[in-house]
Amino acid sequence: MKTSKTLDLGIVVRELVEPHNHLAILENGVLHRVRCPSLLNQLSHSLEASTSEAVRSPFGSRTIIRVDCLDYVILVDEEAYQWLQRLDRDDSKLGTKGRIWRLYSLMPQLTQEISDKIEKDLRRWHGASRLLTGWDTAPQKLRGSCPVCNKRDSLRARVSEWCAYCLNCGAFWPRETVGVLADHVRRSNGEG
Ligand SMILES: [Zn+2]
Repeated sequence: MKTSKTLDLGIVVRELVEPHNHLAILENGVLHRVRCPSLLNQLSHSLEASTSEAVRSPFGSRTIIRVDCLDYVILVDEEAYQWLQRLDRDDSKLGTKGRIWRLYSLMPQLTQEISDKIEKDLRRWHGASRLLTGWDTAPQKLRGSCPVCNKRDSLRARVSEWCAYCLNCGAFWPRETVGVLADHVRRSNGEG
């Protein structure tokens, strides 16, 4: 399976804001192609799904950490809003999805430096949303504090994909750097 880091940016954006096909491993171990809602919708609807009797949503992903999910939607919305403000674009009528589409469509007109920063954020939102919606396994809470914002108990890791993120500040560690975070967490817990 490709990681979000190597996915085409267009796919990253579409998965965030539009319904799409997703390969899922069912409980009987069968690989199955399922139609699922946009990642942002999955995050927003996690509260309904998890408070109803059916903790499994129709597309097969388990919604476990519902408050984290809702917090993350708000964080993405704020960050996208701040980007458009910084670029001096009026986005007062746009919702979160509209803001993400607007940012993506503006990229070709921007300098490489700004465009790279936006791409990094889009991939971070996508990666963290995938982790939070629990497509494969539930993210695990890491003991220790975030090396970026110092908040305790805000780190989550997805063992199967070798990545981690901070719910508080949005920092994201892909496979290449997650080892550095693991070392930091061990040290901050006095485990050498
Ligand atoms: Zn943090």
